[in-house]
Amino acid sequence: MNAPTLTDGFHLVTDALRLNGIDTIYGVAGIPITDLARLAQSQGFRYIGFRHEQSAGNAAAIAGYLTQKPGVCLTVSAPGFLNGLVALANATTNCFPMILISGSSDRAIVDLQQGDYEELDQMNAALPYAKAAYRINRPQDIGIGVARAIHAAVSGRPGGVYLDLTAEVLGATLDAAVGKESLIKVVDPAPSQIPAPESIKRALDLLASAQRPLILLGKGAAYAQADKEIRSFVETTGIPFLPMSMAKGLLPDNHHQSAAAARSFAIGQADVVMLVGARLNWLLSHGKGPLWSQTTRFVQVDISPTEIDSNRAIAAPVVGDIKSAMSAFLAMLKPGQIRPNSAWIDAIGERKKVNIERMAARLNADPSPMNFSSALRAVRNALTDKPDVYIVNEGANTLDFGRNIIDMYEPRKRLDSGTWGVMGIGMGYAIGAAVESGKPVVAIEGDSAFGFSGMEIETICRYKLPITTVIFNNNGIYRGDESGNEPSPTGFINGARYDKMIDAFGGKGYHVTDTVSLQKAVKESVEQGISSLINCVIDPTAGTESGHIQSLNPKSGLTNAS
Ligand code: ADP
Ligand code: MG
Repeated sequence: MNAPTLTDGFHLVTDALRLNGIDTIYGVAGIPITDLARLAQSQGFRYIGFRHEQSAGNAAAIAGYLTQKPGVCLTVSAPGFLNGLVALANATTNCFPMILISGSSDRAIVDLQQGDYEELDQMNAALPYAKAAYRINRPQDIGIGVARAIHAAVSGRPGGVYLDLTAEVLGATLDAAVGKESLIKVVDPAPSQIPAPESIKRALDLLASAQRPLILLGKGAAYAQADKEIRSFVETTGIPFLPMSMAKGLLPDNHHQSAAAARSFAIGQADVVMLVGARLNWLLSHGKGPLWSQTTRFVQVDISPTEIDSNRAIAAPVVGDIKSAMSAFLAMLKPGQIRPNSAWIDAIGERKKVNIERMAARLNADPSPMNFSSALRAVRNALTDKPDVYIVNEGANTLDFGRNIIDMYEPRKRLDSGTWGVMGIGMGYAIGAAVESGKPVVAIEGDSAFGFSGMEIETICRYKLPITTVIFNNNGIYRGDESGNEPSPTGFINGARYDKMIDAFGGKGYHVTDTVSLQKAVKESVEQGISSLINCVIDPTAGTESGHIQSLNPKSGLTNAS
């Protein structure tokens, strides 16, 4: 009798991922998953090896956001896992589907806390930060574990899922036929969630009764890939819309119905606000305070029923997936049923005009050194005929100004700090976007924000990714002009030459101090599709502490710390 053909945990993991259409893995190799990464690559997976797990995790998360398939991040045990956990938590907070797969040490030793190499109960550590966390303890359970992770990541409100693979299970063998039988190809992992027809009617009735309706689009709407349906609903009803930052481009920023340039006015004056895939969280001051009217009534379209009434009473909740919901709205909408008051449209138009003129004055100034506005104007001008370029944006002032100055014309092209306002997503998101799309990416980074993931420029150069990183260098966090005997808590080395970092890896460095050279550098780098880093020197006094969210920054009245 012949010995049975064997398979092992490593092969079952790659087989299970491939069976489910996952073809890219972001990670950092090491014990016990090095062979898993090698095997995946040898089998035709695209394996992107990073310098830090947090960036690998951020790349996986943004891949999930862009594709609706869970992005996969692979890490070693304990410390590598914890580094990746920050990205997993960020993905969960932002509703991005990803799966963090980490190898783990010997369960028997870990559970008795006998001091194993990289000892940690990773599954339980992940639980509070993940949408779900699973551990696979037997090779015959790998198929089910991967299937459960995929369902959890992409169904309903998407999020981050942790999958724990013990070193033992990876090395364990199994009869190949039994192994093959144990794999599961998931069917319909993100099923449509059709909203109740009465909820659609209730929402349409409320919108029809409104004088001053407003549609607020969030990144859930962008994620849903319901671009046609959303645009059609906005244009058929004529309701003005406002995009949250990552929803920019869902409809082009120069669309005549965009109220973005009259944001506070539109929010404050609207009598009915329709939230589509946007939460009333801190980014919308919880629907409270001076920005909002207390009499505004809300429609909220969201896949998560518990999002409803979380900050303000929602008069017309529509619980379902956005694609199904927008189709249902369009199907039930009667011609002429919704017609915003023309005085409302005119008032927004007036306000936009005033604000755009005011902004133009600031934008057209040419101070030396550059400030945030003039430098962003140069970046914007370099990209006007390139709407398909991805923009990654982080840093306090760099983010606040960037959001307003860089217009977007296509959906899901703007990737930024998101729900947590987190710094450190820059290079990970840029790599994820470039790998998934093959398109050029421009990462507009504060010098501080860049530092959190800066080593990944080696990764960018190694894979020859078309990523242009522009560093707004004002010598510090917020700004770089605080002096003293010691380096200040917010200061960095004056005049640092970040462009020289990329020289070390064979990329192209640019050092620019004026808008003409900046615009030229961005244009050249994007058009040539090279890996580059532009050290963009701006005025050290240009930044504002905490950017636009100073109200969240407590100040001591007792010390001289202010
Ligand atoms: P933003 O920061 O742009 O305002 P948020 O991340 O706060 O957006 O909100 C996104 C919302 O979209 C979340 O409440 C999430 O439940 C919801 N969401 C995500 N995907 C979908 C979908 N396919 N259909 C409906 N709602 C979704
Ligand atoms: Mg700075």
